[in-house]
Amino acid sequence: MNDYDDLLDRLRSAYQCCKDCGTKYGVYSVGCSSSRIGKCDVCDAETYVTETRDYAYLITGICRVEAARKSAR
Ligand SMILES: [Zn+2]
Repeated sequence: MNDYDDLLDRLRSAYQCCKDCGTKYGVYSVGCSSSRIGKCDVCDAETYVTETRDYAYLITGICRVEAARKSAR
């Protein structure tokens, strides 16, 4: 398993993520945020997390990583 596959798995299965990962891999949609202390499913940080739903399910990051994986082969 390479880094891209690992990251894709994390992004796809993530239920909650921290603000850093949300901003990096998703698009923040204002209004439905419910942040709480927890573990980020993407980077494993213990911090304020929110549901990936608030970041459009990290779909932009998933697309970007898939594209990067393709060009890396
Ligand atoms: Zn994170």
